[in-house]
Amino acid sequence: MLICVNGESLICVITVNHNLPIIEVKNLKKNYGGFQALKGIDFCVDEGKVVALVGPNGAGKTTTLKILSGFLRPSEGSAKILGKDPWSSPELKKEVAFILDKPNFPPHVRVREFLKEAALMVGKNDGKALDYIKLLGLDQYADRAFAKLSAGNMQKFAIALALLREPKLVVADEPTSNLDPEARAQFYDLVLGAKRKGTTFFISSHVLTELEKVADDIIIMSDGQIRAKAPLNELASSMSSSSFRITTDKPDALAELLGGTVLEGKVVVDEHKADLSAIDGAAKKVGARIVSVDRVGSSLDEIFKKLVDEK
Ligand code: ATP
Repeated sequence: MLICVNGESLICVITVNHNLPIIEVKNLKKNYGGFQALKGIDFCVDEGKVVALVGPNGAGKTTTLKILSGFLRPSEGSAKILGKDPWSSPELKKEVAFILDKPNFPPHVRVREFLKEAALMVGKNDGKALDYIKLLGLDQYADRAFAKLSAGNMQKFAIALALLREPKLVVADEPTSNLDPEARAQFYDLVLGAKRKGTTFFISSHVLTELEKVADDIIIMSDGQIRAKAPLNELASSMSSSSFRITTDKPDALAELLGGTVLEGKVVVDEHKADLSAIDGAAKKVGARIVSVDRVGSSLDEIFKKLVDEK
């Protein structure tokens, strides 16, 4: 495994893997008229992983997912699922489930009815459909027509429909955007359960911390480009610049000597500027009494913001 940080502070992690990736995207570009929404992105998703595609509004997440689901054609480059081009391989829909934004179902059909039929069509018994209705808390809405479902319950239904088939890969565009916290937790439990049975997930979101509990790998994009791709734990450790928060009776003098700042009465100094012995030495020099020294790391949200802001 190689981690390299280039001149633009991008991080790339190259994993030596002898299995074929389930998703392989190479130099993918997409133009909408004169506007370039994807500027040549590359990434892979390995089988059995939960991979999160995270980025702010307009980053290009939906465009990427629409290309993977065969709704859009690339302007240049390629996007492949199981080695096939989704645009010209409708048979992929047997192995891949897509949860895209604004799910559309026949307005007069009822939830339970549709899900039971769907279960039978994919060779599952209708008890399985009822299990998903329960697991996602849809019981009380099971006899409602789609036209009368709230956006969140419609989204739960789309999730149930996707997972019911036990597909090889689930590609989901912000699947939790309309869900309440309890339903989000239920969704992530279902993701982990399906992952244990071998399903791979490629999930987009605005919020990195949202996927923290389930994602193995993170791809961060903004402005049509990939800013970072790495296993979640490596991203956190390689990007987090910790700092020391020092409680002392002479904060100004100590901060000046260490090149730090004073925040809410405490000296804040980046760990790259001083270690514990340097703090001790500086305190002796200015005659300061050290009460406590705490080390504080960057949060995932701070890492995300830092990467997205670097253009
Ligand atoms: P969000 O989180 O807001 O859904 P996103 O990361 O999914 O954003 P995309 O929907 O892929 O971003 O859009 C990427 C860029 O392409 C945006 O600037 C968007 O305005 C533009 N775009 C998307 N679809 C079209 C279209 N059909 N025609 C023109 N521009 C488009």
